[in-house]
Amino acid sequence: MKTDRSDILACLRNSEDYVSGQQLCDRLGVSRTAVWKVINQLKEEGYQIESVSRKGYRLVESPGDVYSRSEILSRLHTKWAGQNLHFFEETGSTNPDAKRFAEEGEPHGTTVVAERQTAGRGRRGRSWESPAGKSVYFTIVVRPKFAPDKASMITLVTALAVAEAIQEVTGLQAGIKWPNDIVVNGKKVVGILTELSMTPEMNEIQFMVAGVGVNVNHESAEEFPEEIRETATSLKIESGRHISRAELLERILTRFEEVYEEFERTLSLSGLKARYESRLAGKDSGVRVLDPAGEYTGISRGITETGELIVERENGETVLVYAGEVSVRGLYGYV
Ligand code: ATP
Repeated sequence: MKTDRSDILACLRNSEDYVSGQQLCDRLGVSRTAVWKVINQLKEEGYQIESVSRKGYRLVESPGDVYSRSEILSRLHTKWAGQNLHFFEETGSTNPDAKRFAEEGEPHGTTVVAERQTAGRGRRGRSWESPAGKSVYFTIVVRPKFAPDKASMITLVTALAVAEAIQEVTGLQAGIKWPNDIVVNGKKVVGILTELSMTPEMNEIQFMVAGVGVNVNHESAEEFPEEIRETATSLKIESGRHISRAELLERILTRFEEVYEEFERTLSLSGLKARYESRLAGKDSGVRVLDPAGEYTGISRGITETGELIVERENGETVLVYAGEVSVRGLYGYV
């Protein structure tokens, strides 16, 4: 599904030396003119490509933060995650787009990426602030072969993949606020919304989508709307450096593929629980469970192999908290 553009970019990126025009033609099965056209397009977009006669082409430098379908695909070495990639400059929200593509039969791993969302969504009809140029918004489609009662674990699987990728790229300690928020230094950098579509007979999962919004290059808290200024942050604010969104997305998709396959192997979180718990914000300390049936406090003790949060209440009783209707907070703040 890759275009010539991303293939050419990938060849240049993966080679330390010059790649001749002929090599590019042979490898990709396209004409010399086609190669030449793509090289020119890439140069216009700001890629610095050196052309030397009899040697060929060499990628000297990629422009600052190119975030495009070709740039992402040229970096991606996954088997299925993100290989069928749609990139929109603007869309309402990537979750409904991904659902539409899934309805139309597009494969497991299909991914929709947007530069900007005009109607980004969170859980329970909440909204997700989605300005252009600074964030990563994407939704990945999966076609699970497991029963619907396992579906809620995909939220935790996604959170783990994203947290690990963030830490790999930025070096920041990325925590997970159960079940699905990613926090850095006590503030939220990622929101995740997973949704499920059942077959018409309502007995099997037709597909699931996992939507992810990451605050990446916001310079300061003032860029967030007033209501979330205290609780939201970005990777740049916390790390002090500009982060390449294409690199981050590539890492997230790669991690997602690995973590998802590990989950599929056992259809439980048994192989991932330790990794998840090592990032669990508030583990072994006080939490407040905002349950619509009544709020309560307790000590968070980790998660079960099926993804529930284990909370020890003051009366000594241990309760399992099911994701869905509840939010969890620290005793004295957001985390
Ligand atoms: P919480 O425990 O934070 O209430 P939630 O899982 O119920 O989490 P989500 O659906 O993940 O919430 O996200 C929606 C909420 O996130 C919004 O109500 C808002 O408070 C906050 N929010 C919206 N946009 C952003 C953003 N770009 N960065 C950080 N937080 C945001």
